[in-house]
Amino acid sequence: MVRKIGVLTSGGDAPGMNAAIRSVTRIALNNGIEVVGIHDGYRGLLEESFEPMTRQSVSEILNRGGTKLGSARLPEFREDEVQDQCIKNLNRAGIDALVVIGGDGSYRGALALTRKGINCIGLPGTIDNDIAGTDFTIGFDTALRTCVENVDKLRDTSSSHHRCSIVEVMGNHCGDLALYTAVSCGAEMVITPETGYDELEVLERLRYLGSAVKKNHAIVIISEKICDVEELAKKVSLNTNFSGRATVLGHIQRGGSPTPTDRMLASRMGEKAVDLLMEGIGGHCVGIIDNHITSVPISEALERPRASRKQLYRLFDRLV
Ligand code: ATP
Repeated sequence: MVRKIGVLTSGGDAPGMNAAIRSVTRIALNNGIEVVGIHDGYRGLLEESFEPMTRQSVSEILNRGGTKLGSARLPEFREDEVQDQCIKNLNRAGIDALVVIGGDGSYRGALALTRKGINCIGLPGTIDNDIAGTDFTIGFDTALRTCVENVDKLRDTSSSHHRCSIVEVMGNHCGDLALYTAVSCGAEMVITPETGYDELEVLERLRYLGSAVKKNHAIVIISEKICDVEELAKKVSLNTNFSGRATVLGHIQRGGSPTPTDRMLASRMGEKAVDLLMEGIGGHCVGIIDNHITSVPISEALERPRASRKQLYRLFDRLV
């Protein structure tokens, strides 16, 4: 029987993590289970930076971005001895089980601890939507809203100046944020790890849009780490009818009050995490598939390829 649950947030922060912390805390407390907040991800576990969580600890955080518990990366957590020390710390604090909110790296840590005897459940907290075993991650919808709001503003100014705006969004080797932004904003082009990148093709397409189609502006959405967008913008100015401008949205994508969709998702997933732990299940991660909250073993989720986005890329092509 689980008596005390620890909760931590790990990896990059994402809006909605607070809603997940709140859900885990309130649902556990309402089931007579004590809750301990662990600061700064696995670092807090190693350094025993714990705080007892009450109903009030999670008051007024539902609408706040970031994470109340702090997040960090601890590369040493891959080492056996570090994990063993953390298990000792958990045992000393009487923590029987853990909810880890983070990305796939954090999931690997949760799996390691489960194998060493502490049941852990992973919740997908990342704006990148890059985790298998779920259609959506906590934070993706809020980051998408931020991207769409900003690209809409860029469109206003681009169309007044015959500009091509090249907008770099986050994604960490996953094109979802770029693809969803491109469809939502009616962009002219989308470039992601899934589409691949060919500079000559991009310039050719923009030349065509500027001369044959006579568009007076163009928006190109591109995932991070694909090319130097400032350089691409210069080449657009030199080789097409458009004046190229690059915008890197950067860390604003991580911030902001979570959307109702993210608050709902985090609340539902937090509930599932506590239910699984009460059933004595560990080593699973929670997902949402076709609007149903589900769970699969972390090992399976990490191996499984993500669902294909082919239909959405096709939709984008048909809307241009
Ligand atoms: P994001 O998607 O925001 O990058 P993430 O959880 O994938 O989130 P990582 O930096 O990959 O971020 O991992 C977060 C932490 O999880 C690491 O700092 C480390 O403490 C732990 N971790 C990562 N990989 C492993 C692993 N293979 N084994 C054990 N722990 C790991």
